[in-house]
Amino acid sequence: MSTKYIATPSKTKEILKKYAFAFKKSLGQNFIIDVNILQNILKHADVNKESGVIEIGPGIGALTEQLAIHADKVVAFEIDQRLLPILEDTLETYPNIEIIHQDILEADVTEVIRQQFKENQPIHIVANLPYYITTPILLKLLHDRLPVESITVMIQKEVAERMAAEPNSKSYGSLTIAVQYYTNAEVVMTVPKTVFNPQPNVDSGILKLELRKEPPVHVADEEFFFRIVKASFAQRRKTLRNNIANLFSDMNKTEIQEIMDRAGIDGERRGESLSMEEFAELANVFYKEINE
Ligand code: SAM
Repeated sequence: MSTKYIATPSKTKEILKKYAFAFKKSLGQNFIIDVNILQNILKHADVNKESGVIEIGPGIGALTEQLAIHADKVVAFEIDQRLLPILEDTLETYPNIEIIHQDILEADVTEVIRQQFKENQPIHIVANLPYYITTPILLKLLHDRLPVESITVMIQKEVAERMAAEPNSKSYGSLTIAVQYYTNAEVVMTVPKTVFNPQPNVDSGILKLELRKEPPVHVADEEFFFRIVKASFAQRRKTLRNNIANLFSDMNKTEIQEIMDRAGIDGERRGESLSMEEFAELANVFYKEINE
């Protein structure tokens, strides 16, 4: 094989042909064939020779190769058994890569980090995610409270915008709060379909999540907080009071508004107008009311 990077149309074609590889749409297999895009991902991911990197879904190794060049060590989770011998071949010249054959949703990533990286090594997660499970993967990584500094991922543009949204916008919703409770989120770049083989049906974006040391708000009970947030967006055209009322069938609307008044929140507002601080205040007063 030539010495070109994997992430070029010709080299990718050569590898796919050599192994007669047929894409599995059900596994979200859209491989990157543009090195410039990968270098942009790397630039935003703050990866350097000190870094440990976790990748999800290496495919035929396009991003893995660039990560191996720029980081200390790369550990990549791949679910598709057929890709393992291919990766062994395409990445054979890089000694600092470990491939784990596992569904990321089943993985104990905390334990993998403990085993595979040096103590106190700065860890970053970098991936071109399989689009059919973008949200479950990111929420799992966040809920696991991994000791990582950042997560930089290529995902559907629309989902990236929802995760990084501001209040009073169409994209702002319970997913925004779920992500921003744990991270500072930013869409750093939008990406055209042409950089993939095969091309996906949707536009893509690079989302950068910087993990917070502490949540930005204090909540009495996290699970309850997220229930309130979810309920507030359940029917976007309804008032906040009506959406919240659906959670508490034993209270009438006047009682609901009285509790909302204690949080200083007008029940006529819509969920999309509330900041994270206001959701926290709202959840905390309801939590106090029902637990006293
Ligand atoms: N990183 C490669 C690239 O950028 O060219 C491939 C990215 S492709 C969008 C997604 C990859 O994730 C595929 O290799 C697919 O087999 C893998 N994958 C899909 N579901 C997975 C899961 N649950 N756990 C781990 N890998 C998964």
